[in-house]
Amino acid sequence: MALEKMLIFLRERNYGPFYCDEPLKNYTSWRVGGPADLLYCPQKIDECAHVLKMAHKWKVPLTILGEGSNVLISDQGIKGLVIITSGFQEILWQGSRVTAGAGVLLASLSRQAAQRGFDGLAFAVGIPGSLGGAVVMNAGAYGSSLKEVLTEVQTLDKRGQLKTYKVEELSLGYRQSIFKETQELIVKVTLSLSWGDKTEIQTKMAAYLRERRLKQPLEWPSAGSVFKNTAQGAGRLIEGVGAKGWSVGDAQVSEKHANFIINRGAAKASDIRALIKEVQLAVKEKYHLDLETEVVFYGFSDNGR
Ligand SMILES: Cc1cc2nc3c(=O)[nH]c(=O)nc-3n(C[C@H](O)[C@H](O)[C@H](O)COP(=O)(O)OP(=O)(O)OC[C@H]3O[C@@H](n4cnc5c(N)ncnc54)[C@H](O)[C@@H]3O)c2cc1C
Repeated sequence: MALEKMLIFLRERNYGPFYCDEPLKNYTSWRVGGPADLLYCPQKIDECAHVLKMAHKWKVPLTILGEGSNVLISDQGIKGLVIITSGFQEILWQGSRVTAGAGVLLASLSRQAAQRGFDGLAFAVGIPGSLGGAVVMNAGAYGSSLKEVLTEVQTLDKRGQLKTYKVEELSLGYRQSIFKETQELIVKVTLSLSWGDKTEIQTKMAAYLRERRLKQPLEWPSAGSVFKNTAQGAGRLIEGVGAKGWSVGDAQVSEKHANFIINRGAAKASDIRALIKEVQLAVKEKYHLDLETEVVFYGFSDNGR
């Protein structure tokens, strides 16, 4: 009933594209995931705010997705409303400060920054997520993370109210931010970069990309590192239990990078989840350590546990 109201509301308002029973595998880097009851791609912040307000009023469950490069969505899909942020694409440069929409690709912003001679985002060149997703996860690589360049974030809360946060308010840590709990929708992000040598920055970025191609199975769909790193190194623990090459259906622990699970073609979310559990169990048995997932689970009754 609530969902029907939402659907009628969206139809009447012409607030940007929306789709019913839309397969989410088309929106995730693992290429798995069942349908969203209702998938909405807002193009304007005020329209999105209105949709959020009504979803809250009618108690429609809400899920937010960026590029889907760090999520495992169940084969049953996601109930309620899924909002995807790829429509928020504006970018405003003011000297070394840049304010960009949450849907802007992090890697693309990293390239644009380098092109303008700004350093601070070089680490992000191979990270295939959106800027909004990068804030939520405090994405990072090569000893740097978004936290170091982030200054401000604009969000819409569950009621559609605009809020502004300073970086100090976000409790950013290793793949951690307050947004993992709050269900606020990030719409804009401001970064403060530093001047650098354009050639040096671009050389550094090329080296990062080379290293990724060498060490990561980029030829297969994946979600990057499945498990958070540990003092012992998650990859080393997984290798230590001999899990490289283990598979369930078409899901396989990569031979190239033990912390990646790849989809060799027709993997289901349930295959990936079963493989995650097998690896966790083996590591627990041998090392008495819990591997915590970095990827976020959606559409699982037990949150993927
Ligand atoms: C090949 C590969 C390599 C990778 N390498 C790295 C790496 O080096 N370092 C790293 O940190 N990560 C890496 N990742 C993981 C992933 O790209 C990052 O975590 C990225 O920041 C996720 O962004 P996303 O837009 O895809 O978010 P999604 O996967 O869509 O979402 C992740 C979480 O953020 C939330 N979210 C997304 N956008 C918003 C928004 N606008 N407002 C509120 N909540 C939102 C979602 O609800 C979800 O909880 C890699 C992934 C792949 C596939």
